[in-house]
Amino acid sequence: MPEKKCKFYKKCGGCQLDMPYEAQLEYKMKLEQKLLGKFGNVSPIIGMYYPYHYRNKVQAAFYKDARSGQILSGVYQSNSKKIVPVDTCMIEDKKADEIIQTIRKLTKDFRFLPRHVLVKHSPNTNEIMVVVVTDSPILPAKKNFCKALKKAHPEITTIIHNINPYDTSLVLGPREEILFGLGYITDKLLGCTFRISAKSFYQINSTQTEKLYTTALKYADLNNKTVLDAYCGTGTIGILAAKHGAAQVIGVELEKSAVKDAIQNAKQNQIKNIHFCNADATEFITELAQNKETVDVVILDPPRAGSTEAFLDAVAALSPQKIVYVSCNPETLQRDLDYITKKHYKVTAIQPVDMFPHTTHIETVVSLDFCI
Ligand code: SAH
Repeated sequence: MPEKKCKFYKKCGGCQLDMPYEAQLEYKMKLEQKLLGKFGNVSPIIGMYYPYHYRNKVQAAFYKDARSGQILSGVYQSNSKKIVPVDTCMIEDKKADEIIQTIRKLTKDFRFLPRHVLVKHSPNTNEIMVVVVTDSPILPAKKNFCKALKKAHPEITTIIHNINPYDTSLVLGPREEILFGLGYITDKLLGCTFRISAKSFYQINSTQTEKLYTTALKYADLNNKTVLDAYCGTGTIGILAAKHGAAQVIGVELEKSAVKDAIQNAKQNQIKNIHFCNADATEFITELAQNKETVDVVILDPPRAGSTEAFLDAVAALSPQKIVYVSCNPETLQRDLDYITKKHYKVTAIQPVDMFPHTTHIETVVSLDFCI
């Protein structure tokens, strides 16, 4: 397959690996072996057949160019507040980039400056969400704006106006108004359907997510087990576990809107052997351990900062037969594995998955067994 080259590479900073895809996979394997090799054999990384345009969630920052007065859009240069004007990207969904370009043109006619535009696209169902973020609650001529946008892109299924008056690094503010459609889109993974709303976390590379989840479920060895899905987001892994052999699943997640989506997701997939708790994962599992509950398998998929010692202490107290750790940061994964392998757990498999080609990010699934 011919390699693509990006003309914004140096300025943008969104991608860090300017090398052929095969070399990227080798680079990631070496890093994994360096960080995790001491725990056991690292299986060859699962790469992508076509490692481009995989990002199903695309964000663009808008600004007025001081010299030309033109409205431009682009991405934040890594580690700075400077916006690099970018109109196409080799890792972003192509349709999303086209929609952002259309909005850029429309802002001229409708005379407003969005702070950000967020587009989410499910490649499996073809549903598309557009979120226009402004600092003011007033979006001039919103009806006509939606009409013009839908005319240019009839494939858009929902449009949301999000209001973010705060000067923080968060793109979305607390308030939103649905301007068109249902306010969410649906994606399909491994035979289940999942609702994605503007704010909830959802894996950004659908093709690789199926491979990631398949690996996690295989390691979990679900057969009639009681499973805890910690940091469960919209409940994807837990729902698939409940469908594929687990007896009972409990999902725990901090973000309220993700839990709402998770409950809805279980319902629409007719999964009855799962329930969700809106709580801090560490507090929740500590309580389970104090109440001497039994859990056979703990699956955890924490954010980049990893888990906490208190969480891992509670896992050790619950002593499940299996732990499946899904990690998006091999450094915090190494730290957490160092801790848990001192508490009667042994690493039995390590599988890296390339969820983010052209960037240095690496996703890893680790299987751990209880041993005395
Ligand atoms: N397993 C899910 C989500 C993984 S992302 C999936 O594959 O889609 C990590 C999730 O952890 C996010 O949804 C985030 O909101 C949640 N989270 C972050 N800190 C948390 C905490 N302290 N307790 C519980 N959930 C937390």
